[in-house]
Amino acid sequence: MRFPPAVLQSPAAREAIRIIERLRDGGYFAVLAGGCVRDALLGRTPKDFDVATDATPESVQRVFGKRHTIAFGASFGVIGVLPPRQRDVERERLVPTEVATFRADGTYSDGRRPDHVTYGTAEADATRRDFTINGLFYDPTSDEILDYVDGITDLQAMHLRTIGDPDRRFDEDKLRMLRAVRFVTTLGLSVEPSTLAAIRQHADSLAVVSGERIGAEMRRVMCQADAVRGLRLLVDTGLYQQVWPQLELANWAKLQFCWERLQLQCFETAMATTLLVLHRNASDAVRDLKKLTQQWKLSTAEQRAISAAIDLAPKIIDCADMPWSMLQPLLVNRDIEVIVAAAQAIAEDRAGIERARVELQREPALLDPPPLLSGDDLIGMGIAPGPHFRSWLDQIRCLQLDNELRTHDDAVAWVRRQA
Ligand code: ATP
Ligand code: MG
Repeated sequence: MRFPPAVLQSPAAREAIRIIERLRDGGYFAVLAGGCVRDALLGRTPKDFDVATDATPESVQRVFGKRHTIAFGASFGVIGVLPPRQRDVERERLVPTEVATFRADGTYSDGRRPDHVTYGTAEADATRRDFTINGLFYDPTSDEILDYVDGITDLQAMHLRTIGDPDRRFDEDKLRMLRAVRFVTTLGLSVEPSTLAAIRQHADSLAVVSGERIGAEMRRVMCQADAVRGLRLLVDTGLYQQVWPQLELANWAKLQFCWERLQLQCFETAMATTLLVLHRNASDAVRDLKKLTQQWKLSTAEQRAISAAIDLAPKIIDCADMPWSMLQPLLVNRDIEVIVAAAQAIAEDRAGIERARVELQREPALLDPPPLLSGDDLIGMGIAPGPHFRSWLDQIRCLQLDNELRTHDDAVAWVRRQA
């Protein structure tokens, strides 16, 4: 397998190579490591380019100068190296490149992280990584792939396999089980049988992993075209009990069918669609969302968009004959894109969605005209604030949208008739 040279042309890759060359000039050995090598060999665009080196964090700081480095995770050997000039940061949107010292993890006693970190050889650093496909290095100076873990064989076969005994590796760090589901989903791999068996065996122990880290992995799983496969794997391995117990209810054929119609591939639409398919009614879906919001630490914006879609997607599906005054407030919802996408995924009848899409093309002034009358106007008319206030303003808004009141004066006259 050759490392595709085109991948090395991006600004981020050139920056990583600059760093590798500087470290070499300083007498150290450095390579590209982990996810970027895997992605490049799979013909994908790497998200970022991580460097691994035999230089200690202090030496890395010395080579680049303190001002050009950030002690990211100095305690576990990671230094961020900044591009040489601020200009490059702005022009090419470069972020610091992570430079990690080769390390050999010691023992694990909490099921989450090594008790202490010791620096080691490139080979030790490869073998402490989780999966063989993640244990590859690329040396750009010699154009060689360093494969201490038989990762290339597994990449070619599209197999996900732990480095070393799967039982021990999942016992050390439980999050790796969920990372397995993530890599299967994002990269379209199959899980090698002994790795799969070990996940099944250790699934319950995922309970020691924080909900936040579970949420971070699930965000990545849910954004994929192939997410349903990931969700099925969660159930198949038993991990779902710690991640999302209600997946037990899933009608997979229906979920897959809806998934294929999901056009906006984002976390919020994916969640809303799954929750709507999973649960018979909106209140069950909302209850499930509440639990996940707490456990996965969803942001307010994520939670808002997902619950808006659960609540309003069914209304959009049924909106074909709805009066404009009822539909308009739905269409000006700030999460309307998520709502319509979820509606599109679950709808049996498309008439409502087609109408919503057409109406959404209206010019802003027609989609959401300024109100004819405000609460201040009512007070100005000498009307005492009270419960009828809101109700009148709402009625005026409806009449405005349905074209029965056209001007401020029409609205004032209408109020006079009520008072
Ligand atoms: P991506 O960045 O695309 O999400 P990645 O493989 O780079 O994928 P990271 O979480 O950035 O994933 O980790 C970088 C590398 O560190 C991995 O490729 C793997 O070699 C190693 N690694 C990360 N997490 C673990 C873990 N829990 N146990 C062992 N090795 C790990
Ligand atoms: Mg990475």
